[in-house]
Amino acid sequence: MKLFKNATFYTMEEENKKTNMVLTDKGVIIATGNDCLSYEPNEIVDLNGSYVFPGFTDAHMHLIGYGRKLLANVIKTNDVINEIKNFYNSEDLFVEGYFDSGLTKDDLDVISSDYMIILRHNDYHSFTVNSKVLEKIRFEHKTGILLEEDAKKVLPIWSNYSKELLEKMTNKAILSLYKYGITGVHTDDLSYFNSYQETLGILNEITKEYPFRINMLIHYDVFDEYIANYNIDNKYLKDIQVKLFYDGTISSKTALLKENYKNLNTNGLRMDSEKIFLEKIKKIRDNKHSVAIHTIGDLALSEVTNILIKYKNDNEMIDRIVHASLADMETINKLSKSNIALDIQPLFIESDKEIISENINHNPLIYPFKEYSDHCIILNGSSDAPVENPNPLLGIYHMGISRYESIKAYTVNPGITINDNIGMIKVGYKADFSAFSKDLMTISLEQLKENEVYATIIDEKIVYRNEEE
Ligand SMILES: [Zn+2]
Repeated sequence: MKLFKNATFYTMEEENKKTNMVLTDKGVIIATGNDCLSYEPNEIVDLNGSYVFPGFTDAHMHLIGYGRKLLANVIKTNDVINEIKNFYNSEDLFVEGYFDSGLTKDDLDVISSDYMIILRHNDYHSFTVNSKVLEKIRFEHKTGILLEEDAKKVLPIWSNYSKELLEKMTNKAILSLYKYGITGVHTDDLSYFNSYQETLGILNEITKEYPFRINMLIHYDVFDEYIANYNIDNKYLKDIQVKLFYDGTISSKTALLKENYKNLNTNGLRMDSEKIFLEKIKKIRDNKHSVAIHTIGDLALSEVTNILIKYKNDNEMIDRIVHASLADMETINKLSKSNIALDIQPLFIESDKEIISENINHNPLIYPFKEYSDHCIILNGSSDAPVENPNPLLGIYHMGISRYESIKAYTVNPGITINDNIGMIKVGYKADFSAFSKDLMTISLEQLKENEVYATIIDEKIVYRNEEE
C-alpha cells in the first residue's frame, strides 16, 4: 500500500472537489482523504505541495508516429529549400513538418535526383517527392505532389523501419509524454508500420519497462487481422474503437464540405462510397465494436452523425468522431442528444486558421468547442501528435471553455469514452496521477503555457519527476 500525500488532489468527480491524500494498492485507489488514516501503508510518497489531477490522457494521437517525428528532420521555418539542403547528407532524406508551399519534384531534384527525398505534408495525408521516389514506386506524376490515394503509394517506403528503430521511436515517444504529465493515450498505430503483429508486439513489450496506458484504435485496414489474432494480456494495453476515415483534410481539399472550396469545382470527397462505408459499419457492429471516425468537413460531420444515430451502437464502449473541425447547429443539436464523443485538437485552431480562410467559401462553425461543450457533448482533448505538440496544457489554453471542462477533456471524458475506471481520483479507479507545481484550476491562461509538470505517476509508480523543482 502506498500513501500519496502533501498535495492538493482534484478528484474531478465534480468541480472543485478536492482531497488531501490518496491511498493505493496494486495500482488501484483504495481510499481518499481521512479514510486513508485507517490503513498502514508500507510506503509514503511526498508530493511536495503539488496540485494533483487524475492522469492526463491524449485521446487521439499516433504514438509511434510521434516518436518518429522526435527522431526526424523537421521543417521549422519558411525557408524550406534551404532547410532541406541543410538536412541533405547524400542519402535518402525523409522530412516532416512540411506545410505544402507548392514545391515540386523539380525543386527537389535540384537537391538530389540520385537519392530519395520525401517531404511529408503536415496534414499527414500527402507527400511531395522527388523523381527518384517516383521511379522507385513506378509512378508517373507531373509535380510529385501526391495527395490521398497517390500518397498511399509512398507509404511502403516511408514506413519501412527495422524493429529496433520502431522500438526506439516508441520509447522516445513515451519518455517525452511522461514529461507532459501524460499517463496514457488513445492511439492509432497498428496499420502504419511493418506489420500489425510486429507493431502490436512492440507496444506490448515496451510497457514492461515503461508503464504507460496504450489504448489502441484498431484501424479498419487491420480489422480482419485483429479479429483473427488479438490475444494480449497486458494491463497497460487495451483495444478500443475501430478507426475509419469518412473524408480527407482541408489543406488537401478533400474534407467534405457543404459548399465548394474557394475557386474550385469540388466540395471534397467521401473516402468510401455510401454502400462500402455502411458495409464497414455493419461489419464492425457485427463484431461487437464501436467506431472512431475521422471526420473534418461540415457535410461529413452531418452525414456521420446521421449514420451513427441510425446504426445504433449497443456495445459498452461509445462511438467517437475524430476531429469534428467544421459543424452546423443542426448537427450539434443531434450530437447533444446522442452518446457520441468528439476527439478535438485545440491546437488546430491556430495552425488551421489560414488554411481555412484561404480555402473555404461558406461560413460553417469552425472548431466550435464552446458550442460542443455548451451542448454537453463529451469532448476529448488531444493533439493528433505528431501533427501537434502533445502538451495538454497548450490544449487547455486553446480550448476556450471553462477550466474544469477543459481538464475533464483530458481526464474524465477519455475514461468514459473507453469505458474504463480511469480519469478520476476515486476509490476503484486506476492509480494514475499528473502532478503540477502550480494549481491548474486557478492560474491564468498565460501561466498555463509555462506550468511545469512536477511528477507523472502511472499504476502507482512515479515514472517521471521534474528534478529542477
Ligand atoms: Zn490522427
